[in-house]
Amino acid sequence: MTQYTNYYAKKRFGQNFLINSFIINEIIRLFNPNINDHIIEIGPGLGALTKILIKQLNYLEVVEIDRDIIKILQHEFKSEIANNKFVIYEADALKFDFNNICNDGLRIIGNLPYNISTPLLFYLSNFNNIKDMHFMLQNEVVNRIIARPDCHDYGRLSVMLQSRYDCCRLLFVGKDAFDPKPKVDSAIVRLIPRDPNLVMQIDFKKLNMIVTSAFNQRRKTILNSLSKIIEKDYLIDTLSQLNIDTTKRAENITVDEYILLSKKIIFFNKV
Ligand code: SAH
Repeated sequence: MTQYTNYYAKKRFGQNFLINSFIINEIIRLFNPNINDHIIEIGPGLGALTKILIKQLNYLEVVEIDRDIIKILQHEFKSEIANNKFVIYEADALKFDFNNICNDGLRIIGNLPYNISTPLLFYLSNFNNIKDMHFMLQNEVVNRIIARPDCHDYGRLSVMLQSRYDCCRLLFVGKDAFDPKPKVDSAIVRLIPRDPNLVMQIDFKKLNMIVTSAFNQRRKTILNSLSKIIEKDYLIDTLSQLNIDTTKRAENITVDEYILLSKKIIFFNKV
């Protein structure tokens, strides 16, 4: 988009545009769009991913917050808009109703602004019409999302997201792939919702309480950290029924064990 090289990226919207065409093509290849897929891109920016997607799809929607960017996109994709191939929503993705555009099978892609990435992931977990999501995030955040037990990166984010999604890292993306160049490296993560019958049975509020309490004191044993919110004898009984060693620490408990714990525990008046 050479005619727009004088566009100045806005920091407040976390604008770091992809400029490395090898990486851009790799992302699309891994995303693997099919011509009839219902896809929405969050934060299309100057269209690095958008223009390839549009070529490969019958129809594409994007949600973008920045009016100046939208004007550029409207100009660039004039004919696709006129032919009803391309729709731009001017909106904050954190408030956008993703249910409104699609009943089922929605695919989401986006090179997300770092400042909204975690809240957006939690916001999107409210929608059950999503087939898969592919996001560019800070590499460190991706490390935490995909972390397995017994390692330093394993924490609240890992448990809360892995309980809903199968999470995997697809590609490391160095900071040189962007303009302006961010301070940190990035990576592409793929999130696929787990079996809805399984997810439906999870009380995420309760799970979050348990996981937050456990990881807030990650050096303590699970018995000590959780006895802040759960009566100790009841906790000992519950952990033993679930075969969870009371001397384990938060990072040694698997996602499935946290889920079991959240199903078994009944909160009395301690919380
Ligand atoms: N996808 C492009 C741009 C990435 S920069 C590329 O890879 O080059 C992030 C984009 O997200 C910018 O276009 C920014 O304006 C947009 N954005 C920032 N906050 C947003 C929000 N809350 N909702 C929707 N879009 C947002």
